[in-house]
Amino acid sequence: MAGQDERRITKVTKFRILKPVPPLTWEELGKLLRDVRYRVFRLANLIVSEAYLNFHMFRTGQSEDFKTAKPGELSKRLRQMLLEEMEKKKIKDASEQLNRFSKINALPDTVAGALSQYKIRAVTNANKWRQVIRGDASLPTFRRDMAIPIRCDKPYQRRLEKHQPGDVEVELMICAKPYPRVVLATRRDKIGDGQFAVLQKLLENKDQSTDGYRQRYFEIKQEKFTGKWHLFVTYDFPALHRQKPDPKTIVGVDVGVSVPLYVALNKGHARLGWRHFAGVGHRIRSLRNQLDARRRNMQRAGRADLSSETAGAGHGRKRKLQPIEKLQGRIQKSYSTLNHQLSKSVVEFALNHGAGAIQMEDLEGLKDVLRGTFIGARWRYHQLQQFIEYKAKEVGIVVRKVNPAHTSRRCSKCGFINSDFDRAYRDAHRTEKGSAKFLCPECEYEADADYNAARNIATLEIAKKIAVQCKRQGIALPEGKAL
Ligand SMILES: [Zn+2]
Repeated sequence: MAGQDERRITKVTKFRILKPVPPLTWEELGKLLRDVRYRVFRLANLIVSEAYLNFHMFRTGQSEDFKTAKPGELSKRLRQMLLEEMEKKKIKDASEQLNRFSKINALPDTVAGALSQYKIRAVTNANKWRQVIRGDASLPTFRRDMAIPIRCDKPYQRRLEKHQPGDVEVELMICAKPYPRVVLATRRDKIGDGQFAVLQKLLENKDQSTDGYRQRYFEIKQEKFTGKWHLFVTYDFPALHRQKPDPKTIVGVDVGVSVPLYVALNKGHARLGWRHFAGVGHRIRSLRNQLDARRRNMQRAGRADLSSETAGAGHGRKRKLQPIEKLQGRIQKSYSTLNHQLSKSVVEFALNHGAGAIQMEDLEGLKDVLRGTFIGARWRYHQLQQFIEYKAKEVGIVVRKVNPAHTSRRCSKCGFINSDFDRAYRDAHRTEKGSAKFLCPECEYEADADYNAARNIATLEIAKKIAVQCKRQGIALPEGKAL
Protein backbone atom coordinates (compact mmCIF):
# COMPACT_ATOMS: atom_id res chain seq x y z
CA MET A 1 0.00 0.00 0.00
CA ALA A 2 1.27 3.44 -0.83
CA GLY A 3 2.15 5.56 2.17
CA GLN A 4 0.44 8.83 2.88
CA ASP A 5 3.42 10.74 1.47
CA GLU A 6 3.18 8.93 -1.88
CA ARG A 7 -0.45 9.78 -2.46
CA ARG A 8 -0.96 12.02 -5.48
CA ILE A 9 -3.88 14.08 -6.58
CA THR A 10 -4.85 14.20 -10.25
CA LYS A 11 -6.51 17.22 -11.81
CA VAL A 12 -7.25 18.70 -15.20
CA THR A 13 -6.85 22.25 -16.41
CA LYS A 14 -7.58 23.63 -19.86
CA PHE A 15 -6.07 26.29 -22.06
CA ARG A 16 -7.38 27.65 -25.30
CA ILE A 17 -5.12 27.17 -28.28
CA LEU A 18 -4.42 30.78 -29.18
CA LYS A 19 -2.64 30.28 -32.49
CA PRO A 20 -0.26 28.05 -34.39
CA VAL A 21 3.38 29.11 -34.51
CA PRO A 22 4.28 30.25 -38.05
CA PRO A 23 4.81 29.09 -40.74
CA LEU A 24 1.87 26.86 -39.80
CA THR A 25 -1.46 28.59 -40.49
CA TRP A 26 -4.76 28.15 -38.69
CA GLU A 27 -6.17 26.58 -41.81
CA GLU A 28 -3.45 23.94 -41.90
CA LEU A 29 -3.61 23.32 -38.17
CA GLY A 30 -7.40 23.01 -38.20
CA LYS A 31 -7.26 20.53 -41.07
CA LEU A 32 -4.58 18.52 -39.34
CA LEU A 33 -6.47 18.41 -36.03
CA ARG A 34 -9.71 17.34 -37.71
CA ASP A 35 -7.85 14.70 -39.67
CA VAL A 36 -6.14 13.30 -36.57
CA ARG A 37 -9.42 13.38 -34.67
CA TYR A 38 -11.08 11.35 -37.41
CA ARG A 39 -8.36 8.71 -37.17
CA VAL A 40 -8.60 8.72 -33.38
CA PHE A 41 -12.34 8.17 -33.59
CA ARG A 42 -11.93 5.31 -36.06
CA LEU A 43 -9.15 3.70 -34.06
CA ALA A 44 -11.00 4.02 -30.75
CA ASN A 45 -14.03 2.23 -32.15
CA LEU A 46 -11.78 -0.40 -33.77
CA ILE A 47 -10.12 -1.10 -30.44
CA VAL A 48 -13.50 -1.52 -28.79
CA SER A 49 -14.84 -3.88 -31.47
CA GLU A 50 -11.64 -5.90 -31.47
CA ALA A 51 -11.79 -6.26 -27.70
CA TYR A 52 -15.40 -7.36 -27.98
CA LEU A 53 -14.54 -9.98 -30.57
CA ASN A 54 -11.57 -11.24 -28.56
CA PHE A 55 -13.68 -11.63 -25.47
CA HIS A 56 -16.37 -13.41 -27.40
CA MET A 57 -13.81 -15.89 -28.75
CA PHE A 58 -12.48 -16.41 -25.27
CA ARG A 59 -15.94 -17.10 -23.90
CA THR A 60 -16.82 -19.56 -26.64
CA GLY A 61 -13.60 -21.46 -26.17
CA GLN A 62 -12.08 -20.43 -29.48
CA SER A 63 -9.17 -18.78 -27.78
CA GLU A 64 -7.41 -19.56 -24.55
CA ASP A 65 -7.27 -16.17 -22.99
CA PHE A 66 -8.75 -12.75 -23.35
CA LYS A 67 -6.33 -10.32 -24.92
CA THR A 68 -7.25 -6.71 -25.32
CA ALA A 69 -6.63 -5.15 -28.69
CA LYS A 70 -3.16 -3.84 -29.54
CA PRO A 71 -3.59 -0.26 -30.71
CA GLY A 72 -0.29 -0.28 -32.63
CA GLU A 73 -1.40 -3.26 -34.67
CA LEU A 74 -4.84 -1.77 -35.28
CA SER A 75 -3.33 1.58 -36.19
CA LYS A 76 -1.44 -0.23 -38.96
CA ARG A 77 -4.65 -1.78 -40.23
CA LEU A 78 -6.42 1.53 -39.98
CA ARG A 79 -3.78 3.09 -42.21
CA GLN A 80 -4.42 0.40 -44.80
CA MET A 81 -8.17 0.96 -44.52
CA LEU A 82 -7.81 4.71 -44.93
CA LEU A 83 -5.58 4.28 -47.97
CA GLU A 84 -8.08 1.99 -49.61
CA GLU A 85 -10.95 4.34 -48.83
CA MET A 86 -9.05 7.27 -50.27
CA GLU A 87 -8.22 5.32 -53.40
CA LYS A 88 -11.83 4.31 -53.81
CA LYS A 89 -12.84 7.93 -53.55
CA LYS A 90 -10.03 8.71 -55.97
CA ILE A 91 -8.39 11.14 -53.61
CA LYS A 92 -5.08 12.09 -55.11
CA ASP A 93 -1.89 11.90 -53.10
CA ALA A 94 -3.49 9.59 -50.60
CA SER A 95 -0.16 8.23 -49.44
CA GLU A 96 1.24 11.75 -49.35
CA GLN A 97 -1.47 12.68 -46.88
CA LEU A 98 -0.79 9.64 -44.78
CA ASN A 99 2.90 10.45 -44.68
CA ARG A 100 2.06 13.30 -42.37
CA PHE A 101 1.45 10.53 -39.89
CA SER A 102 3.79 7.65 -40.43
CA LYS A 103 4.68 5.08 -43.02
CA ILE A 104 3.49 2.28 -40.80
CA ASN A 105 0.70 3.57 -38.60
CA ALA A 106 -2.31 5.79 -39.06
CA LEU A 107 -1.50 7.47 -35.76
CA PRO A 108 1.76 8.03 -33.90
CA ASP A 109 2.54 6.09 -30.73
CA THR A 110 1.85 9.09 -28.51
CA VAL A 111 -1.75 9.19 -29.68
CA ALA A 112 -2.42 5.46 -30.03
CA GLY A 113 -0.77 4.88 -26.67
CA ALA A 114 -2.75 7.58 -24.92
CA LEU A 115 -5.92 6.29 -26.49
CA SER A 116 -5.47 2.81 -25.11
CA GLN A 117 -4.02 3.87 -21.82
CA TYR A 118 -6.29 6.74 -20.92
CA LYS A 119 -9.45 6.40 -22.96
CA ILE A 120 -9.97 2.75 -23.64
CA ARG A 121 -8.63 1.22 -20.46
CA ALA A 122 -11.97 1.53 -18.75
CA VAL A 123 -13.75 -0.46 -21.43
CA THR A 124 -11.22 -3.17 -22.27
CA ASN A 125 -11.44 -5.21 -19.11
CA ALA A 126 -13.08 -8.61 -18.90
CA ASN A 127 -15.78 -7.45 -16.50
CA LYS A 128 -16.96 -4.83 -18.91
CA TRP A 129 -17.32 -7.40 -21.68
CA ARG A 130 -19.09 -9.81 -19.42
CA GLN A 131 -21.65 -7.06 -18.84
CA VAL A 132 -21.90 -6.35 -22.57
CA ILE A 133 -22.37 -10.01 -23.44
CA ARG A 134 -25.00 -10.40 -20.72
CA GLY A 135 -26.78 -7.35 -22.09
CA ASP A 136 -26.31 -5.31 -18.91
CA ALA A 137 -24.19 -2.72 -20.69
CA SER A 138 -24.06 -1.56 -24.26
CA LEU A 139 -21.04 -1.55 -26.51
CA PRO A 140 -19.20 1.69 -25.85
CA THR A 141 -18.78 3.88 -28.89
CA PHE A 142 -16.82 7.03 -29.53
CA ARG A 143 -18.16 10.05 -31.32
CA ARG A 144 -16.57 11.78 -34.20
CA ASP A 145 -15.98 14.96 -32.17
CA MET A 146 -14.09 13.14 -29.44
CA ALA A 147 -10.97 14.53 -27.83
CA ILE A 148 -7.54 13.66 -29.22
CA PRO A 149 -5.47 12.19 -26.39
CA ILE A 150 -1.69 12.59 -26.42
CA ARG A 151 0.85 11.08 -24.05
CA CYS A 152 3.31 13.50 -22.52
CA ASP A 153 4.63 11.59 -19.52
CA LYS A 154 7.69 9.97 -21.12
CA PRO A 155 11.00 11.88 -21.11
CA TYR A 156 11.18 12.28 -24.91
CA GLN A 157 7.59 13.43 -25.24
CA ARG A 158 6.72 17.11 -25.61
CA ARG A 159 5.32 19.15 -22.74
CA LEU A 160 4.40 22.75 -22.02
CA GLU A 161 7.32 25.13 -22.30
CA LYS A 162 7.76 28.80 -21.75
CA HIS A 163 8.98 30.38 -24.93
CA GLN A 164 8.81 34.11 -25.14
CA PRO A 165 8.08 36.21 -22.12
CA GLY A 166 4.55 35.30 -21.16
CA ASP A 167 4.01 32.84 -23.97
CA VAL A 168 3.55 29.16 -23.29
CA GLU A 169 4.00 26.89 -26.27
CA VAL A 170 3.71 23.18 -26.86
CA GLU A 171 4.52 20.84 -29.70
CA LEU A 172 1.67 18.48 -30.41
CA MET A 173 2.97 14.98 -31.10
CA ILE A 174 0.01 14.02 -33.23
CA CYS A 175 1.82 13.26 -36.50
CA ALA A 176 5.30 12.78 -37.95
CA LYS A 177 7.84 15.59 -37.61
CA PRO A 178 7.67 18.52 -37.83
CA TYR A 179 5.14 18.57 -34.99
CA PRO A 180 2.65 21.40 -35.11
CA ARG A 181 3.62 24.01 -32.54
CA VAL A 182 0.94 26.10 -30.85
CA VAL A 183 0.73 29.04 -28.48
CA LEU A 184 -1.67 28.68 -25.57
CA ALA A 185 -3.85 31.44 -24.15
CA THR A 186 -2.17 31.90 -20.78
CA ARG A 187 -2.31 35.65 -20.27
CA ARG A 188 -2.63 36.55 -16.63
CA ASP A 189 -5.86 38.46 -17.06
CA LYS A 190 -7.47 35.71 -19.12
CA ILE A 191 -6.95 32.81 -16.75
CA GLY A 192 -7.74 32.68 -13.06
CA ASP A 193 -5.18 33.04 -10.26
CA GLY A 194 -5.46 29.37 -9.38
CA GLN A 195 -4.85 28.24 -12.94
CA PHE A 196 -1.96 30.65 -13.30
CA ALA A 197 -0.31 29.22 -10.20
CA VAL A 198 -0.78 25.67 -11.48
CA LEU A 199 0.75 26.61 -14.81
CA GLN A 200 3.85 28.06 -13.12
CA LYS A 201 4.27 24.88 -11.11
CA LEU A 202 3.97 22.74 -14.23
CA LEU A 203 6.54 24.87 -16.07
CA GLU A 204 8.93 24.83 -13.09
CA ASN A 205 9.03 21.06 -12.89
CA LYS A 206 10.80 20.50 -16.20
CA ASP A 207 12.21 17.09 -15.36
CA GLN A 208 8.85 15.80 -14.08
CA SER A 209 10.18 15.23 -10.58
CA THR A 210 7.79 13.36 -8.30
CA ASP A 211 8.14 16.16 -5.73
CA GLY A 212 6.36 18.58 -7.99
CA TYR A 213 3.53 19.01 -10.47
CA ARG A 214 3.78 16.51 -13.34
CA GLN A 215 2.09 16.68 -16.74
CA ARG A 216 0.48 13.30 -17.34
CA TYR A 217 -1.35 13.59 -20.63
CA PHE A 218 -3.00 16.05 -22.95
CA GLU A 219 -6.31 16.08 -24.74
CA ILE A 220 -7.22 18.36 -27.61
CA LYS A 221 -10.89 19.09 -27.93
CA GLN A 222 -12.92 21.43 -30.07
CA GLU A 223 -15.62 23.41 -28.33
CA LYS A 224 -18.92 22.56 -29.92
CA PHE A 225 -20.48 26.00 -29.98
CA THR A 226 -17.54 28.24 -30.79
CA GLY A 227 -15.39 25.82 -32.78
CA LYS A 228 -12.37 26.84 -30.70
CA TRP A 229 -9.71 24.29 -29.86
CA HIS A 230 -8.57 23.69 -26.31
CA LEU A 231 -5.73 21.78 -24.75
CA PHE A 232 -6.70 19.90 -21.59
CA VAL A 233 -3.74 19.15 -19.37
CA THR A 234 -4.07 16.31 -16.87
CA TYR A 235 -1.51 16.73 -14.12
CA ASP A 236 -0.81 15.34 -10.69
CA PHE A 237 0.96 16.52 -7.56
CA PRO A 238 1.76 15.08 -4.14
CA ALA A 239 -1.12 15.20 -1.69
CA LEU A 240 1.25 16.67 0.88
CA HIS A 241 1.27 20.01 -0.90
CA ARG A 242 -1.97 20.67 0.87
CA GLN A 243 -2.11 22.58 4.10
CA LYS A 244 -3.51 21.11 7.28
CA PRO A 245 -7.18 21.95 7.79
CA ASP A 246 -7.63 24.86 10.16
CA PRO A 247 -11.02 25.10 11.91
CA LYS A 248 -10.77 28.88 11.74
CA THR A 249 -10.54 28.87 7.95
CA ILE A 250 -14.09 28.66 6.66
CA VAL A 251 -15.48 28.22 3.18
CA GLY A 252 -18.83 29.90 2.47
CA VAL A 253 -21.12 28.52 -0.22
CA ASP A 254 -23.79 30.75 -1.71
CA VAL A 255 -26.31 29.84 -4.38
CA GLY A 256 -25.44 32.21 -7.18
CA VAL A 257 -27.59 34.17 -9.57
CA SER A 258 -24.95 34.58 -12.24
CA VAL A 259 -23.31 31.23 -11.54
CA PRO A 260 -24.59 27.98 -10.00
CA LEU A 261 -22.55 28.55 -6.87
CA TYR A 262 -20.29 31.18 -5.49
CA VAL A 263 -17.66 29.98 -3.07
CA ALA A 264 -15.44 32.20 -0.93
CA LEU A 265 -13.12 32.03 2.04
CA ASN A 266 -13.43 34.07 5.22
CA LYS A 267 -9.85 35.29 4.67
CA GLY A 268 -7.87 36.24 1.62
CA HIS A 269 -9.43 36.69 -1.78
CA ALA A 270 -9.68 33.14 -3.08
CA ARG A 271 -12.96 32.25 -4.68
CA LEU A 272 -14.62 29.88 -7.08
CA GLY A 273 -16.82 31.56 -9.61
CA TRP A 274 -18.14 31.12 -13.10
CA ARG A 275 -14.99 29.91 -14.76
CA HIS A 276 -15.14 26.66 -12.89
CA PHE A 277 -18.64 25.73 -13.85
CA ALA A 278 -18.98 27.39 -17.23
CA GLY A 279 -18.97 24.09 -19.13
CA VAL A 280 -21.91 22.38 -17.48
CA GLY A 281 -23.67 25.71 -17.05
CA HIS A 282 -23.46 26.23 -20.77
CA ARG A 283 -24.80 22.76 -21.44
CA ILE A 284 -27.77 23.24 -19.12
CA ARG A 285 -28.61 26.60 -20.65
CA SER A 286 -28.48 25.12 -24.12
CA LEU A 287 -30.70 22.18 -23.13
CA ARG A 288 -33.17 24.59 -21.52
CA ASN A 289 -33.26 26.64 -24.70
CA GLN A 290 -33.85 23.52 -26.76
CA LEU A 291 -36.65 22.54 -24.41
CA ASP A 292 -38.29 25.95 -24.71
CA ALA A 293 -38.04 25.83 -28.49
CA ARG A 294 -39.50 22.34 -28.55
CA ARG A 295 -42.40 23.45 -26.36
CA ARG A 296 -43.17 26.38 -28.62
CA ASN A 297 -43.10 24.08 -31.62
CA MET A 298 -45.36 21.63 -29.85
CA GLN A 299 -47.87 24.32 -29.07
CA ARG A 300 -47.95 25.41 -32.67
CA ALA A 301 -48.22 21.86 -33.94
CA GLY A 302 -50.77 21.04 -31.26
CA ARG A 303 -53.05 23.84 -32.37
CA ALA A 304 -52.83 22.67 -35.97
CA ASP A 305 -53.53 19.10 -34.88
CA LEU A 306 -56.71 20.02 -33.08
CA SER A 307 -58.31 21.15 -36.28
CA SER A 308 -57.39 17.97 -38.09
CA GLU A 309 -59.35 14.74 -38.18
CA THR A 310 -56.93 12.87 -35.98
CA ALA A 311 -57.02 15.50 -33.25
CA GLY A 312 -56.35 14.00 -29.86
CA ALA A 313 -55.16 10.71 -31.26
CA GLY A 314 -53.11 9.24 -28.46
CA HIS A 315 -50.17 7.73 -30.22
CA GLY A 316 -49.05 10.60 -32.37
CA ARG A 317 -49.18 12.96 -29.46
CA LYS A 318 -47.22 10.65 -27.27
CA ARG A 319 -44.54 10.22 -29.84
CA LYS A 320 -44.27 13.95 -30.28
CA LEU A 321 -44.00 14.40 -26.55
CA GLN A 322 -41.10 12.04 -26.27
CA PRO A 323 -38.38 14.48 -27.24
CA ILE A 324 -39.58 16.84 -24.51
CA GLU A 325 -39.42 14.12 -21.91
CA LYS A 326 -36.04 13.12 -23.21
CA LEU A 327 -34.83 16.71 -22.99
CA GLN A 328 -36.17 17.01 -19.48
CA GLY A 329 -34.39 13.82 -18.56
CA ARG A 330 -31.17 15.15 -19.98
CA ILE A 331 -31.58 18.39 -18.06
CA GLN A 332 -32.12 16.51 -14.80
CA LYS A 333 -29.10 14.38 -15.52
CA SER A 334 -27.02 17.44 -16.33
CA TYR A 335 -28.02 19.00 -13.03
CA SER A 336 -26.93 15.87 -11.18
CA THR A 337 -23.62 15.95 -13.04
CA LEU A 338 -23.34 19.60 -12.18
CA ASN A 339 -24.04 18.85 -8.53
CA HIS A 340 -21.31 16.23 -8.50
CA GLN A 341 -18.85 18.64 -10.06
CA LEU A 342 -19.91 21.47 -7.79
CA SER A 343 -19.64 19.45 -4.60
CA LYS A 344 -16.28 18.03 -5.64
CA SER A 345 -14.98 21.51 -6.45
CA VAL A 346 -16.23 22.95 -3.16
CA VAL A 347 -14.58 20.23 -1.09
CA GLU A 348 -11.35 20.44 -3.09
CA PHE A 349 -11.34 24.20 -2.73
CA ALA A 350 -11.68 23.75 1.03
CA LEU A 351 -8.87 21.19 1.08
CA ASN A 352 -6.57 23.30 -1.06
CA HIS A 353 -7.01 26.29 1.21
CA GLY A 354 -6.66 24.35 4.42
CA ALA A 355 -10.23 25.08 5.50
CA GLY A 356 -11.61 23.05 8.37
CA ALA A 357 -15.26 23.98 7.83
CA ILE A 358 -17.77 24.60 5.07
CA GLN A 359 -20.80 26.77 5.75
CA MET A 360 -23.92 26.67 3.58
CA GLU A 361 -27.34 28.25 3.75
CA ASP A 362 -29.99 26.50 5.76
CA LEU A 363 -32.98 26.70 3.46
CA GLU A 364 -35.24 24.57 5.63
CA GLY A 365 -38.68 26.12 5.83
CA LEU A 366 -37.82 28.91 3.40
CA LYS A 367 -40.00 29.65 0.43
CA ASP A 368 -39.07 31.01 -2.93
CA VAL A 369 -35.44 31.74 -2.05
CA LEU A 370 -34.10 29.85 -5.04
CA ARG A 371 -36.13 31.93 -7.50
CA GLY A 372 -33.87 33.44 -10.12
CA THR A 373 -30.84 31.42 -9.09
CA PHE A 374 -29.07 29.10 -11.48
CA ILE A 375 -29.91 26.01 -9.46
CA GLY A 376 -33.52 27.07 -9.42
CA ALA A 377 -35.21 24.13 -7.72
CA ARG A 378 -35.23 23.05 -4.12
CA TRP A 379 -34.59 19.33 -4.67
CA ARG A 380 -31.52 20.14 -6.74
CA TYR A 381 -30.11 22.31 -3.99
CA HIS A 382 -30.96 19.67 -1.45
CA GLN A 383 -29.07 17.11 -3.53
CA LEU A 384 -26.11 19.45 -3.82
CA GLN A 385 -25.98 19.98 -0.06
CA GLN A 386 -26.07 16.23 0.52
CA PHE A 387 -23.22 15.70 -1.94
CA ILE A 388 -21.13 18.37 -0.25
CA GLU A 389 -21.86 16.93 3.17
CA TYR A 390 -20.77 13.38 2.41
CA LYS A 391 -17.72 14.43 0.40
CA ALA A 392 -16.61 16.80 3.16
CA LYS A 393 -17.15 14.15 5.80
CA GLU A 394 -14.86 11.76 3.94
CA VAL A 395 -11.95 14.16 4.30
CA GLY A 396 -12.72 15.34 7.81
CA ILE A 397 -14.17 18.76 7.02
CA VAL A 398 -17.05 19.98 9.17
CA VAL A 399 -20.20 21.19 7.42
CA ARG A 400 -22.46 23.73 9.08
CA LYS A 401 -25.75 25.18 7.92
CA VAL A 402 -26.22 28.83 8.75
CA ASN A 403 -29.24 31.08 8.87
CA PRO A 404 -29.09 32.98 5.59
CA ALA A 405 -31.12 35.99 6.80
CA HIS A 406 -29.47 39.24 5.65
CA THR A 407 -26.40 37.48 4.27
CA SER A 408 -27.09 39.06 0.89
CA ARG A 409 -27.47 42.55 2.35
CA ARG A 410 -24.62 42.57 4.82
CA CYS A 411 -21.34 44.21 3.90
CA SER A 412 -18.76 41.46 4.28
CA LYS A 413 -16.11 44.09 5.00
CA CYS A 414 -17.58 46.23 7.79
CA GLY A 415 -20.73 44.30 8.73
CA PHE A 416 -23.19 47.10 7.91
CA ILE A 417 -26.55 45.90 6.67
CA ASN A 418 -27.65 47.60 3.49
CA SER A 419 -31.44 47.27 3.74
CA ASP A 420 -31.93 48.82 0.33
CA PHE A 421 -30.10 45.93 -1.27
CA ASP A 422 -33.23 43.80 -1.27
CA ARG A 423 -34.68 41.39 -3.75
CA ALA A 424 -36.45 44.06 -5.79
CA TYR A 425 -33.29 46.17 -6.03
CA ARG A 426 -31.20 43.16 -6.99
CA ASP A 427 -33.67 42.06 -9.64
CA ALA A 428 -33.80 45.56 -11.08
CA HIS A 429 -30.03 46.01 -11.13
CA ARG A 430 -28.96 42.72 -12.54
CA THR A 431 -26.18 43.10 -15.03
CA GLU A 432 -25.98 41.24 -18.26
CA LYS A 433 -23.57 38.79 -16.70
CA GLY A 434 -25.85 38.06 -13.79
CA SER A 435 -26.02 39.50 -10.33
CA ALA A 436 -26.09 43.13 -9.22
CA LYS A 437 -23.09 44.83 -7.64
CA PHE A 438 -23.18 45.10 -3.87
CA LEU A 439 -22.39 48.57 -2.58
CA CYS A 440 -21.87 49.39 1.08
CA PRO A 441 -23.21 52.87 1.96
CA GLU A 442 -21.12 52.84 5.12
CA CYS A 443 -17.60 51.92 4.04
CA GLU A 444 -18.10 52.12 0.25
CA TYR A 445 -17.00 48.54 -0.21
CA GLU A 446 -18.00 47.32 -3.65
CA ALA A 447 -18.13 43.70 -4.72
CA ASP A 448 -19.95 41.15 -6.82
CA ALA A 449 -23.17 40.43 -4.89
CA ASP A 450 -22.68 36.68 -5.08
CA TYR A 451 -19.13 36.98 -3.79
CA ASN A 452 -20.16 39.30 -0.97
CA ALA A 453 -22.89 36.89 0.11
CA ALA A 454 -20.53 33.91 -0.01
CA ARG A 455 -18.06 35.87 2.11
CA ASN A 456 -20.78 36.51 4.70
CA ILE A 457 -21.79 32.88 4.77
CA ALA A 458 -18.13 32.02 5.39
CA THR A 459 -18.08 34.21 8.51
CA LEU A 460 -17.78 32.56 11.92
CA GLU A 461 -20.98 32.92 13.99
CA ILE A 462 -22.57 34.91 11.22
CA ALA A 463 -26.13 34.68 12.59
CA LYS A 464 -25.03 36.14 15.91
CA LYS A 465 -23.08 38.93 14.23
CA ILE A 466 -26.05 39.82 12.04
CA ALA A 467 -28.41 39.84 15.03
CA VAL A 468 -26.11 42.27 16.88
CA GLN A 469 -25.82 44.50 13.82
CA CYS A 470 -29.59 44.49 13.27
CA LYS A 471 -30.11 45.67 16.82
CA ARG A 472 -27.52 48.42 16.34
CA GLN A 473 -29.19 49.64 13.15
CA GLY A 474 -32.72 49.17 14.47
CA ILE A 475 -33.58 46.57 11.84
CA ALA A 476 -36.04 43.83 12.75
CA LEU A 477 -34.63 40.37 12.27
CA PRO A 478 -37.14 38.71 9.99
CA GLU A 479 -38.80 35.81 11.71
CA GLY A 480 -39.37 33.69 8.67
CA LYS A 481 -35.66 33.97 7.78
CA ALA A 482 -36.64 35.69 4.53
CA LEU A 483 -33.69 36.85 2.50
ZN1 LIG B 1 -19.14 48.19 4.59
